[in-house]
Amino acid sequence: MTTAAASLAPAMAQDAPAPQVLGADVLVCGAGVAGTMAAVAAARAGARVLLLERYGFLGGNATAGAVAQFNSWQTANGRRVVAGLAQEVVDRLRIYGAAAAHETFVMSTGHRMDRVEYAPEVLKLVLDDMVSDAGVQPLLHASLLDVQREGARVTQVRALTKSGIVAVRPRMLVDASGDMDALRKAGASFLSLEAGEALQPATMMFRFGPIDFAALEAADIGALARRGYEEGALARAALHVARAPFSQDGWFNVSRLAVDATDAMALGRAEIEGRRQAWCAAKFLRHAVPGCAQGRLQAFGTQVGVRETRRVRGEHVLTAEELLAPVAFDDAIAAGAYPIDIHPAAGGELEYSALGDDHAYQIPYRSLCPAGLDNVLAAGRGISASHKALAAIRVMTISMAVGQAAGVAAAQAAAQGERAAARAVSVQRLRAALLDAGACLA
Ligand SMILES: Cc1cc2nc3c(=O)[nH]c(=O)nc-3n(C[C@H](O)[C@H](O)[C@H](O)COP(=O)(O)OP(=O)(O)OC[C@H]3O[C@@H](n4cnc5c(N)ncnc54)[C@H](O)[C@@H]3O)c2cc1C
Repeated sequence: MTTAAASLAPAMAQDAPAPQVLGADVLVCGAGVAGTMAAVAAARAGARVLLLERYGFLGGNATAGAVAQFNSWQTANGRRVVAGLAQEVVDRLRIYGAAAAHETFVMSTGHRMDRVEYAPEVLKLVLDDMVSDAGVQPLLHASLLDVQREGARVTQVRALTKSGIVAVRPRMLVDASGDMDALRKAGASFLSLEAGEALQPATMMFRFGPIDFAALEAADIGALARRGYEEGALARAALHVARAPFSQDGWFNVSRLAVDATDAMALGRAEIEGRRQAWCAAKFLRHAVPGCAQGRLQAFGTQVGVRETRRVRGEHVLTAEELLAPVAFDDAIAAGAYPIDIHPAAGGELEYSALGDDHAYQIPYRSLCPAGLDNVLAAGRGISASHKALAAIRVMTISMAVGQAAGVAAAQAAAQGERAAARAVSVQRLRAALLDAGACLA
């Protein structure tokens, strides 16, 4: 050992105390909208819940990614398909004056869609309130370190935190990390892209304003977007904007980043390229788009919004065919009506399959149950679904509904004791509890 190394050794030993060990009925990894709803639902169902999140706030894409609009609550003819905790989120946002009215609008593809625009910063507060009220124990600034497994059971999950390593020994684990990092570390198996498919691109959202929305809405946005794309000012031929409620600003969704967000180096490059694209788009808005001449870029998302990374292989792989010709699943735990909406990684037009007037589909519980693991559930954008099916069910409304279902299921499973297992949950009981809590299952 060199003298320098020898003098470092004692200091390193002092910095590495024994890990703190915590017990929990349910550990939820990742506090995006899916994970937060899972944690709240599990706690309300009586479980002791720990919610592990790498940031200092909750929400994932919905806050850090600044997505700013909850899409698709209903079928084209207005039949409600998502409610439950997702609706409670909106109700609470409204109390803070941070969500607009439910409305329909025309997307850049020309299709009609319904949405609720919201303020991402205030959503952080609402999610704080919901976990606090439910008695969830948040473990923030905690990055997943490793997962220990014995046979088909996850026995321990460790996270790196400001105060060192924290080990959690949960009865049930819900992986809602979007990238399914916990399942990856647990050795779960994942679905591959098929020939001709690519991961959906990421997007750096940005806030721009003030905007004269009346002038903007009167303009030919489609033609302007195509012009911006052809001139190289926009990375995609779209000028999607969600208005920040009760303000003159909008959150723009116009950048395009072909990236595998589980590759750390590539993700770093995408953050930088995303800010560059956003800046170019903001200049285009200011100089070429009616209503935007006084605007300035006000903020970036804390991170690029990530649409797709890993999808776990579950007891059932939900397919596009099962959404397009809807299958009535006996074990349906959530419903949705958002169309298959694939953003090409290389830029250009969306692949968008509009659904019929009263068209809704269901999501089966088995798509939340990773194959080969007993005490684990998946929630959110990494559940067991094909690339095309995920392109529909990834939206936040459906992610929240799936999160709620995963949370109730995890609590019911944890109540079985030390041998808790996702597959041992009575689907009838689970569905009844979800209906009681105001969720829509069809
Ligand atoms: C640019 C963009 C635009 C979109 N537009 C819309 C829209 O208009 N309307 C709509 O409804 N939906 C939209 N979506 C889809 C929607 O936002 C996401 O699919 C949804 O938010 C996914 O939620 P989630 O909770 O599954 O995952 P995420 O939001 O990805 O949350 C995962 C959480 O896990 C945490 N995490 C990850 N890894 C670790 C780790 N190793 N350790 C600790 N914590 C970890 C993250 O920090 C995050 O909080 C859009 C998505 C993007 C990216």
